[in-house]
Amino acid sequence: MFMTGNDCSPMHTPGSDTTAGDGLPVLLPRSQHSISRQHINEHTLKVLYRLRRSGFQAFLVGGGVRDLLLGRQPKDFDVGTDATPEQVRQLFRNCFLVGRRFRLAHVRYADNYVVEVATFRRQPKPEELPENPEEHFFFAENVYGTPQEDAFRRDFTINALFYNIDDFSVIDYVGGLEDLAARRLRVIGDPATRFAEDPVRMLRALEFAARLGFSLDEATREAIYRAAPLIAEAAPARIREELLELFRHQVGGAVLRQAQAMGLLPHLLAGYEGDDETFALLEQLDGRTASGIPIQEPFVLAALFLSRFRQLCCPPQEATVSDALRTANLLLNSICGYFRIAQGSRAAARELLTGFFRLSGGRGRRGEGRFLRHPVWSQAMQLLQLWVAATGEGQELLAAWQEMGGAASPASPAAPGRPGTAGRRRRRPRRRKKPAAQTEKRPSDS
Ligand code: ATP
Ligand code: MG
Repeated sequence: MFMTGNDCSPMHTPGSDTTAGDGLPVLLPRSQHSISRQHINEHTLKVLYRLRRSGFQAFLVGGGVRDLLLGRQPKDFDVGTDATPEQVRQLFRNCFLVGRRFRLAHVRYADNYVVEVATFRRQPKPEELPENPEEHFFFAENVYGTPQEDAFRRDFTINALFYNIDDFSVIDYVGGLEDLAARRLRVIGDPATRFAEDPVRMLRALEFAARLGFSLDEATREAIYRAAPLIAEAAPARIREELLELFRHQVGGAVLRQAQAMGLLPHLLAGYEGDDETFALLEQLDGRTASGIPIQEPFVLAALFLSRFRQLCCPPQEATVSDALRTANLLLNSICGYFRIAQGSRAAARELLTGFFRLSGGRGRRGEGRFLRHPVWSQAMQLLQLWVAATGEGQELLAAWQEMGGAASPASPAAPGRPGTAGRRRRRPRRRKKPAAQTEKRPSDS
């Protein structure tokens, strides 16, 4: 494990002020931390070394350093440098510049591995900002700076640590090492200001705290309570991506539960409010993802609305399938419209809910044979399984359906794809009668 604060080499200034207010970073030499080059992806190492040999600074930055120091497997490795994107492009034949909002260099390798290289940024001074306030965010994303300035524009202290390929030291400008040791998530700078700059950081704070099992620093927590409504101003496309990220990391249930407790959820999800059963269901869904089943957006959507859907149209004795369809549509439409979710996902979520409705009606109903052959059956069974595990309700119902072949094993989900198409027997196309005039026409006539 790394050593922090006062354990550092005396040539540097760890101090008790974890914000490094004196301007000097805490430097952890190679002998005092656990990051080895063996843990770093080979392509990333090549990029770091080539940048360095070309006279630029080259650091491993962001989540990669954080995760390696925690002994976790990083999801990916990002590189920070003082080379501009254009200079990076000139150094690597396999480099492409990407990002309209945040200009980045992607160095691509044959095995599809991409090393993301970002030029050090800084917060612009107020007098540098364009006149139109709407352009501020975009402008601020692309002002280049020093490594220290780059550390301070990042979101959380534990996400702002640098690993220097030159001497293998870890550089900490912001008190991230102390926070890692204390397992604490802390915003860099004044949380209220940083959340106002980019409200998505509130969601990221909950995400990282849940993923790493860290506590939220008190000032960060209080600022989320106060700034929660601001998240409604963030671009829905970004929120949607961050939400899916939560479920990919198997913390969707825990984070949304906390988001509700902190007053963030309705602003995040266009007025949505969850109940206990929903959060328990989402936690079960996270468990399913942890067992190796990739997350699918329709499944998340169906799980978000299942509890409400059940209240409105189960038990099915009092409702028809068209009632169920209408209710599913009603529940899904506003959120799908807000996030511009494609019709295919919307329809798949609706089918899952109506599949659940048909399962709730029990065995022996009309059309059971057809339903059992329908690909949604297996997915709806998985939803029912998760619901039973989350609430303890419906065990007998589940057992009765499982007698039909137990196809709802979570390890064998129905193939994702367009709803109602996979696995269905193809009908032979009906032969069309040719119109009389054409049947008489010979090729030579044309
Ligand atoms: P992981 O990749 O494991 O999800 P990460 O920390 O690498 O975690 P990314 O979303 O890949 O997260 O972002 C990389 C880095 O960019 C972060 O570690 C952080 O330093 C910085 N960053 C990302 N989003 C923001 C933001 N909204 N505001 C400030 N800095 C950010
Ligand atoms: Mg990352």
